Amino acid sequence: MPVHVERVEVEVAPGFIENCYLVNDVADARRVVVVDPGAQPERIHAALGGRTVERIVLTHRHFDHTGALSALVQAGAAEVVAHALDADAVCDPVTSGAVPHGLVPPSTPATATVEDGDYVPVGSARLRVIHTPGHTVGSMCLYDEEGAVLLSGDTLFFETCGRTDFPTGNARQMRESLQRLARLPGRTVVHPGHDVDTTIAHELQHGALRPRNAD
Ligand SMILES: [Zn+2]
Ligand SMILES: [Zn+2]
Repeated sequence: MPVHVERVEVEVAPGFIENCYLVNDVADARRVVVVDPGAQPERIHAALGGRTVERIVLTHRHFDHTGALSALVQAGAAEVVAHALDADAVCDPVTSGAVPHGLVPPSTPATATVEDGDYVPVGSARLRVIHTPGHTVGSMCLYDEEGAVLLSGDTLFFETCGRTDFPTGNARQMRESLQRLARLPGRTVVHPGHDVDTTIAHELQHGALRPRNAD
């Protein structure tokens, strides 16, 4: 069963937009998985329109992906899922990036951890966890093989990749993570944490997945 993905653009700070995604299996729009609720919980609630939040998934620890987390949990969202290596750090004032930006991190930690190869249920569908360290050590992408859809967090963007100069970032790990994503089918639609959608084929041709020249 493939998934349906709906983008909700939220404003973390003036001009600083993050893409939150509402994901459901194509046969049942009533049960939703919220990926990266970065800010503006009222906007996310409006997009949900009263539908049930099955779980929240965080692609990584950064504050611009978790700003609406506490509000959604208080409103009744059941489970908060993150990679084991970033799960606790969601609440870390420094490495979440919150304090350096004058903000407070969420008080709500992830309540369930996943690792590479695990599956996150989405109604009757499921997303496979691809651990993609580099932007942070616990960064992950979520992959729907059947629907050829990738939620890439801050690992892969339109014609570029995520920064590796934040705490726990690592340029070598980022290169290895991008090499893994380059092996996904070209038709895979990529929904990133910021900016517009892309595809694996486009990134292989023009972007961050281009084979590097031998040097
Ligand atoms: Zn980030
Ligand atoms: Zn981000």
